[in-house]
Amino acid sequence: VNIEHSRAIRLASTVTGLDEPTLRDRQERALIFVSLDPALAGTPLAARTLLCTLRRLPGRLALRSTGLPGGLVEEIVAATLAIDPTRPLALDLGEAEATVRIHLGLEDRAGAIRIVPDGFGAQVAGDPEVELDLGRPGNALGAIFAAALAAAEAFKYVVVDNPDRRTLHRHLSFCPLTLTDDTTAAPGLWITRESIDAAIVGNGAIGTAIALILAELRLGGRLILCDHERYGPENRGTYSLGGELEARMNPLKVELVGKVLRAAGYSTIGLAEKSTAMIERIDAGEIPAPPILLTGLDSVEARRETQMLFPDHIFDAATGDTALGLHHAVPAGPCLRCFFTQSAGGPDPLVRLAEETGLPVGRLRRGDEALSEQDLSGLSAAQRELLNEFLGKPVCGLADALGLTSASVDDYRPSVPFVSQLAACLAVGRLLAVRAGLAPETNLFQFDALHGPRGGGEIRGPEPDCYCQQRRSIVENLRLKRGLSS
Ligand SMILES: [Zn+2]
Repeated sequence: VNIEHSRAIRLASTVTGLDEPTLRDRQERALIFVSLDPALAGTPLAARTLLCTLRRLPGRLALRSTGLPGGLVEEIVAATLAIDPTRPLALDLGEAEATVRIHLGLEDRAGAIRIVPDGFGAQVAGDPEVELDLGRPGNALGAIFAAALAAAEAFKYVVVDNPDRRTLHRHLSFCPLTLTDDTTAAPGLWITRESIDAAIVGNGAIGTAIALILAELRLGGRLILCDHERYGPENRGTYSLGGELEARMNPLKVELVGKVLRAAGYSTIGLAEKSTAMIERIDAGEIPAPPILLTGLDSVEARRETQMLFPDHIFDAATGDTALGLHHAVPAGPCLRCFFTQSAGGPDPLVRLAEETGLPVGRLRRGDEALSEQDLSGLSAAQRELLNEFLGKPVCGLADALGLTSASVDDYRPSVPFVSQLAACLAVGRLLAVRAGLAPETNLFQFDALHGPRGGGEIRGPEPDCYCQQRRSIVENLRLKRGLSS
C-alpha cells in the first residue's frame, strides 16, 4: 500500500503556485536530517513525534543515532516503520547533503535549525548565533509542540520559496497556555496531580493529535470519544495516529484512539456516532455528560450541533490549509454557535434551505419554533407540498430531512499533520491553562503554521441573536438536567 501523499502535495501547490509534479519531485528528493540531545527533557518524544509526522509526508528522512540510547533508536525506527514500512528511516547518513537539518538541542550543531521543548511550549532558533536558554524542562505538550514547529520548519525549507508565505525564525519562543513568548509563566509540576473528565468529538486529523498529546501527558481520568467514521488509507498521511496496519484494517477511529488512550492510563467510552447521538445518550442517562469538550470538527454544522451539549467549556481546534486556530466557547457565550454563525466556504446552508423551501432565512434561523400554517402562507403549491409533513415540527430539522446537510469537505481539503498538531496544542494548552487558572481572556487565537504564532488573539463577545443569548433559561435547564451546572 502506497501512502497517500496527494493532500500534502496539493497543499504545497496551493502555497507555492507551482505545479504538482514539480513539487512531488522536489519533496520526494528532499532529505531531512534530525539530530537530538537526548539528555534534554522532552527531546526523545519530540524526535519520535517529528519523525513520525515527517514519515506521513513525501521525502527522505535520516536520524543521527550516534550517542543515542539504543532503546530510543529502536523505538523511533519501529514507530516510523509502522507508519510506512516501504520507506525506512536512514541512520547517520546524509548529514552533509541534507536539504534541512533539525537539531533538537540547545547547542549549535553546524548551523542546523535548533528546536527545543521549553515547559509547555517551545523555542526555535534559525540563527546559529542565537543563544538558547531553557526556561523550564520540556513536558509532553512542549515536546509535541516543538515537533510540530520543527515539521513546519522542514516543510518551509523543502517546499516554500515564496517569502510572503513563510517566516524563517531567527528566534521564536511560544507557550500555548499563556499565548505569549514567556515559557516560564506556566508552572510545571501541578499537571501530575490532574485528572480529566472530557470528550474528544471528532477523531480525525485534529482529534488524533489531541489524543496523542493527552496520551503523552498521562493525566488520567475519563474520555468519551465520538466519531462515526472508520480509519481509511487516506488518513495515514494527515492524522497523528495510525499507520500501515490501520490503513489496511480500517478500524473505527474511536477504537484506534481509545486503544492509545487506554494504554496511557485513561478510561474511555467510544461512540461510533455523531455528536447529536452522543447528546441523546447523555439525556437518556446512558453516559455521563462531560463538562469539557475538545473538538476537532470540519464543518460549521457539526460545531453548531455539538454546542447543544452546552458543557462548561469547549476547546475547539480548527484548521484550513496552513491556518489554524482555537475557539474557547462557554455556555454564557460566546458559544460555538456565536463563533460559527454560518457556513464558511460554499453557500450558507440556510440560504440554500431558504431557496429550496421558500421560507425566509430569518424564519429558518428560529430553528426551535415549530413550522406553522402561517409559515406556509404565501408559498407556492410545490413548496407547500414539500413542507406539509413538517407542520408542527421545529424547522431546524428541515435541512437534514430534505437532504440539504452540507457534506463533509475533509476529503478534499489539503492538509498536513503538523498544522493539525499545532491546533491541537492550542486546544490542550487552553484546557491546561483553565485548570491552572492561567487562561488569558482571549477566546479566539489564530495563526498561520508557516509564519508561526505571535502573542495576542481576540476577545469575542456573544452574538445577541444566538441561541445561548435568546434561550438562556433553556440552556441553564439543559445543563442542570445533565448535571453540568455548578
Ligand atoms: Zn452563542
